[in-house]
Amino acid sequence: MEIKIYPDEVLKKKAEKVKEFNQEIRDIVNQMFETMYKRGGLGLAGNQVGVLKRIVVIDLESGKERQGQNKIVLINPEILEMEGEQLNQEGCLSLPGLYKKVKRAAYVKVKAQNADGEDFTIEGEDLLARALQHEIDHLNGIVFIDRLSPLQKRLALQRYKKLKREYERKTKKK
Ligand SMILES: [Zn+2]
Repeated sequence: MEIKIYPDEVLKKKAEKVKEFNQEIRDIVNQMFETMYKRGGLGLAGNQVGVLKRIVVIDLESGKERQGQNKIVLINPEILEMEGEQLNQEGCLSLPGLYKKVKRAAYVKVKAQNADGEDFTIEGEDLLARALQHEIDHLNGIVFIDRLSPLQKRLALQRYKKLKREYERKTKKK
C-alpha cells in the first residue's frame, strides 16, 4: 500500500464505518500492518493508505525485535473516556520527518471491534493513549498538526514544506 502524504485530500476526509466483517477487511488489516512495519510506524489509519474505512492498526514495538507480538486492530473505534494531560513529541508517516510536541489526554478508554466484528474495550496510558488518539483523529480527517495552536501550526507547515520536498526527492531516486 502507498502512504498518502499530507496535504492529500484523503487525510482530511471522515472514514466510513465498517459494517461487514469479511475477508476484504482482514486483507486490508494485514496489508496495513505490512505497510506500517516497512516504514517503522507505530500506527496507521485507513485514510493514510487511501482506504476511507474506520480501520486502525497499532504496534508500539514496530521496528523492534518483538514486532508483530503486540498487534492491535481497531475497527470502528470510539473514545469512551479521556483523562489527564500529556505533552510529548509526535510524528506521522503522512508527514514524513516532522515532529512536534502535541498535547493529548494521558489516559483513554476506547471501544472498538476486532477484525471478526467482536466488541472489545482497550485502555491506554502514555504512548498507547497518544497512539489511540492520533489514529482515531485520522479517521475523522484530523492530522496531528491540526492539534497545535494556530501559530505553532503555521511554523510546522513552513518546516514541513521543506521536509516534503526532501522526501519527494529521496523517494523519486529509489
Ligand atoms: Zn498519523
